[in-house]
Amino acid sequence: VARGPMESEFHQAVSEVLESIAPVVAGHPEYVEAGILERLVEPERQIMFRVPWVDDDGAARVNRGYRVQFNSALGPFKGGLRFHPSVNLSIMKFLGFEQVFKNALTGQGIGGAKGGSDFDPHGRSDAEVMRFCQSFMTELYRHIGDQTDVPAGDIGVGGREIGYLFGQYRRMTNAHQSGVLTGKGIGWGGAQVRTEATGYGAVYFLQEMLDVRGDSVEGKTAIVSGSGNVAIYAIEKLQQLGAKPITASDSSGFIVDEAGIDLDLLKELKEAGRERISAYARRRPSARFVSSGRVWEVPGQLVIPCATQNELGSDDAAALVRHGVIAVAEGANMPCTPDAVEAFAQAGVLFAPGKAANAGGVAVSALEMAQNAAREHWSFEESELRLRGIMADIHAAAFAAAERYGHPGDYVVGANAAGFVRVADAMLAQGLV
Ligand code: NDP
Repeated sequence: VARGPMESEFHQAVSEVLESIAPVVAGHPEYVEAGILERLVEPERQIMFRVPWVDDDGAARVNRGYRVQFNSALGPFKGGLRFHPSVNLSIMKFLGFEQVFKNALTGQGIGGAKGGSDFDPHGRSDAEVMRFCQSFMTELYRHIGDQTDVPAGDIGVGGREIGYLFGQYRRMTNAHQSGVLTGKGIGWGGAQVRTEATGYGAVYFLQEMLDVRGDSVEGKTAIVSGSGNVAIYAIEKLQQLGAKPITASDSSGFIVDEAGIDLDLLKELKEAGRERISAYARRRPSARFVSSGRVWEVPGQLVIPCATQNELGSDDAAALVRHGVIAVAEGANMPCTPDAVEAFAQAGVLFAPGKAANAGGVAVSALEMAQNAAREHWSFEESELRLRGIMADIHAAAFAAAERYGHPGDYVVGANAAGFVRVADAMLAQGLV
């Protein structure tokens, strides 16, 4: 806290992890002697840089760029880039810290990092986004590489931005080093299922949790927030498995469609058109748009928050419990506040933390790296099968660790403990570095 007094999101993420791994640390004095905890909370390297660019009116603009390379004990740094006006060092550190445990859980040999900028792509032309991405990469390129650090997308960074970033990297290095970024287009080094992976993976995890109770997602109503990459593909997989998602949102409000979300329409508006979510209600008679209010007031049995951190608080959790929620899987990173997580636990609601439930995205990114290194292209079916297997393995690892450390059914403890042990053992073996 003394080193970063204003970093509230980072402190929130660290407290949640440290509290839940107390029983693990108690059984491993060697971790304490080797200073594992002190080293884990200090990033290996933090890079902050100026990103100057010119807008369409010819005016000079300046944003701040970040890359927090948190921990590389298990493999090259890996984690997304976020472009959103709320980005600051605290948010970068919280996301990078979470990424370390998430990546360990995937079992794919990747370290943890996060980066991005306070640049807001909303309302910017393609040309402005391209110039920004080129300027951002002009500094970032010297810090990354397929053996060093492999960024990907996150909020505000999708296929378009990855394309511009990759183009500039290639130009500056005179190398088509495809493994330097993931989330690339299928025609130039991208992997099948990467776009779908985070949303699909969250639903697979939900299904695994329900399976333990002899239940399934089929026939259940689902409440989803967000309408970006994660939300769209969570909705798609929910529908494929027979559930009925009825909501989506963005920063302007949310829509409720009691007939079930029309996915083609949502994709047309959000992926192709970059429109506001209210446009959905204008085009669909069964839907209504709500500009003020909480999407969590809408009754449903399954909940997948897919927008941003701390979007679901204790009042929201209380409303969901009142309306009969049975399972929550975090598609976003840390969308539920600690009070909300506690409320779900008290009510016996199944709860999957983001570092387990949304790990499918980075897991398929690791598969993209493997395909790039081997110059291979796997089919959609094979890639989806692998994703499904990885999500089942993550579920099994978190479930077993929760039992081993005396908190059966608690996936927060389970995911943190299982991820922590993998990283801590590697750090222990590699000495004081
Ligand atoms: P996108 O940019 O594709 O979509 C984000 C969605 O969330 C948009 O609908 C956006 O609305 C909404 N949103 C973002 N910030 C806010 C806010 N402050 N208040 C209200 N709504 C907001 O991002 P992704 O779908 O990729 O990411 C969503 C979450 O999932 C993030 O927490 C991310 O870290 C996490 N995640 C993403 C992964 C991936 O593979 N993409 C992997 C693992 C986790 P608007 O357009 O109005 O801003």
